[in-house]
This record gives sequence, structure tokens and C-alpha cells, in this order.
Amino acid sequence: MTEKITAVKGMNDVLPKDSYLWEWLEAQVRDLMHAYAYSNIRTPIVEPTALFVRGLGEVTDIVEKEMYSFEDRLNGEQLTLRPEATAGVVRSVVENNLLYDAPRRLYYMGPMFRHERPQRGRYRQFHQMGAEALGFAGPELDAELILMAHALWQHLGLKDVRLELNSLGQPPERAQHRQALIAYLQDHAQLLDEEAKRRLHTNPLRILDTKNPDLQGLVNAAPRLIDFLGQTSLAHFESLKAILDANGVAYTLNPRLVRGMDYYNLTVFEFVTQSLGSQGTLCGGGRYDYLIEQLGGKPAPAVGWAFGVERVLELIKAQGLAQSVAPLDCFAIVPQAQSFPVVFKAVESLRRLGLKVQMHAPSLGQAKPEEGKLASLDDKTPWQHVGSMKSQFKRADSSGAMYALIFGSDELATGCVTVKSLRDGQGLQRVELLKDIDQWGKALQSSLHPKS
Ligand code: AMP
Repeated sequence: MTEKITAVKGMNDVLPKDSYLWEWLEAQVRDLMHAYAYSNIRTPIVEPTALFVRGLGEVTDIVEKEMYSFEDRLNGEQLTLRPEATAGVVRSVVENNLLYDAPRRLYYMGPMFRHERPQRGRYRQFHQMGAEALGFAGPELDAELILMAHALWQHLGLKDVRLELNSLGQPPERAQHRQALIAYLQDHAQLLDEEAKRRLHTNPLRILDTKNPDLQGLVNAAPRLIDFLGQTSLAHFESLKAILDANGVAYTLNPRLVRGMDYYNLTVFEFVTQSLGSQGTLCGGGRYDYLIEQLGGKPAPAVGWAFGVERVLELIKAQGLAQSVAPLDCFAIVPQAQSFPVVFKAVESLRRLGLKVQMHAPSLGQAKPEEGKLASLDDKTPWQHVGSMKSQFKRADSSGAMYALIFGSDELATGCVTVKSLRDGQGLQRVELLKDIDQWGKALQSSLHPKS
């Protein structure tokens, strides 16, 4: 047999057993973005490598070792699969002059690529949904974005999601802190690990979020950036906190929160959970007031966040919140092939009312005219072998539907259908008249989809 080709390590298929949840989350996030007046932007997955080197910073983990970069075979251009979307969004905003007449609120969804060590919650192709507000300088937009993410977790019903907040100040404040930090770390050089030594002069701020347990005491006592902030930076931070306080959004101040990209200033934040093991950061973001200028645009402030779709979906599943999201409302069980004309009419009515209905249909594998012989297209009437009630019920159960609609001959003889719950554990059922289908179908629809 020819050897199978398998997916690239760390890059996963999203199969039907999960894809309905992805689609559901996408729909929730789209509604959320529309409620906050964010418009969709779709930028290319491949961008010039220089965009990320200049945008994210040369000595960041992503640029140093995680980018999928390659040379265009035809013209030698250096290209990279996007490791994140903010740089691409800013490139597009500048290139298309989107900030010409007004600030912009934008959102995106899509795959990102980082060559990391694959593990639970960390993949080489992963997906982010993110929001960016460009052209706004005040803390109100930092607050709007944080409130929006907070509203999403609430809407999804997620528990154990905590907000961590910090301010990185402005470049001159960071420069002062950097000097103090380097001096402090040099005084304790004998305690530093290899990575910290390497970062001492390139990106000392990143030493503060080291995972090395031996360095925790050292970084805990290090000079804190927040102590170097001037009046204006502190006022920005205080105003943000006041809006969060007034809206009941709890947060923890984490002076060691620095984030992985160099482009941030002032506000940075992360939403974290204890429920996902070591990859507990769901969402990260902050202000990046200098990136637009750095990528060739007219100076303009901006703020944004992105969350990891795989991690949020894993949390949804871990907290049992996926159960209420059914891929399907009804599964139609059809014991006799001659019933199809009537059944079609009924399920079409239900679909018009907005219900998701799967109809049982005979498949070749299921139609077994003779023992031991699969039906083939040569069989005169393979469609007559609709399969036993038992096998149809099995399919109904594994379809994820909330209800089975049983179109048995007894039911049809009296113009009825049996509606049987597949999810209440007791199999409660009732008989409905087909002539009243619009009435009970509507009631079923609004009980299953209260908001639509
Ligand atoms: P970042 O762009 O690094 O700030 O990441 C934002 C969010 O994307 C993180 O909080 C994660 O939820 C998610 N994320 C980042 N890298 C990965 C990855 N390699 N695999 C899965 N999710 C990721």
C-alpha cells in the first residue's frame, strides 16, 4: 500500500465533531464585534518578512526563532507566514489610508503560524480572533476593548478567567527603567541563567517574565517599571482602572507582565485561566502607539487584543459549556422508504422555520440486500433498504441532535410525527400533528434558539 501523507506536526485538522463549535464561536464573536461597531478586515496570511522584523522587534522569541520564513522562488522576496495579525492589520491600514478621515475599529479571525514546540494549547498553526482600535489615544479605548473581551467570557459562560493588568509607560520611562534593571541584574550576574544573560543587553524586560523557578526571587525584587512612570502615564492607567472598577471588571495588577512583542507601550493585559494547565493565557493585548509610525504611517495611537481560539474552545469544553451548543436540532427517523415524500415536506417546513434538521437517508454501506454483500449501484432499489429503527436511532444519537422526529407508519397513518428528546436522559416524547407543523415547529425553534 502507498504510504499515507500526514498533516504537518503541530498543525491540526478541524473535523466535523469540532467544527460546529468553531462556527458557533465565530458567530458569537461576530455578533460581539458588531455590537461594539468593529468592522471586519481580512489581510493576507503571507507578508514580507520585514514587516514582522520591524514590527515585532528583532530580539523577540517570534522573530528570533519561530517564524516560517521562505524566499519567493520566482523573485527572491523574503516572505513569512504571519505569526500574529496586528502587524499585517497596521500595514493594511497604512497602505490603504484607512485612518485618513476617522479612527477605525477593526476585527479579524484566522490562522497564525509559529514554529514552537507543539504541546497541549500550543500549536504551530493556531487561530486567533482579535480586535484593534486605531487612531484613539485615550484610555477609553483600552477600557472598551477589555470590557468587550470580558463581555465575551461572560456571554460564553466561562469561569475562572482572570484579568492581569500592567502599564509599560512610554519609551523614555522604559529607557530609564531599563538602565536601572540592567544595573540591578548585572549586580546579580552570577544568578542569571543562559537565556537571561543573553537578554541582559538586548531585551532585559523579558527576563522579568522568565519561567525559571531559580530566578523568581531575583525578578520579584527587581526595579518595577510602574515606579518609573510619570504623571501622564499614571493618569492614563488610573483612568482605565476607574472605568473597569465602575463596570465591575476585576483585575490583578501584575508589574511583571511585559508581553512578547516589542511594540507595546502604556496598557498591557492578559486574560488567564488556571483551568488549562501550563498554557493558561487565553487572550493578550495592549496599546501600541508607535507601531503605525514604525511601519511607515503617519503617527497614530492604537490598542488591541487577540485570543487563541483553540484555548478558548478547550476551556469551553473543559467547563462543560459545549453541551448546550448542538450541531443539530432534529434527526428525522424514516423507517419506510415510501414515506420520504411526506417526510421531505415536513422537514422542509421545519428548516424554513430555522431549525437544523438532518434526514436519515439510506447509504450504500447500510443497505444490505443480502447478508455479507454490500449494496452497490447495480442493485435495482438500494434506496429501499433504509436500515433498521435501531440503527437509525444510533445515528440520531451520535448526530448530536436534540430531538428525534419519528416518521413511523403508525404516525403517518394518523397524520402525526413523534418528537422524542434525545438529551433529557428519559427520552420524553410527544406526538404532534403534521398539519400544525408551523405552530409546534416555531415553538420548538424558539425553545432551542431563544435569542434568534
Ligand atoms: P500573542 O499573539 O502571543 O499575544 O498570543 C495571543 C493569544 O494567542 C494567546 O493568549 C494564546 O491564547 C494564543 N496563542 C499564541 N500562541 C499560540 C500557539 N502557539 N498555539 C495556540 N495558541 C496560541
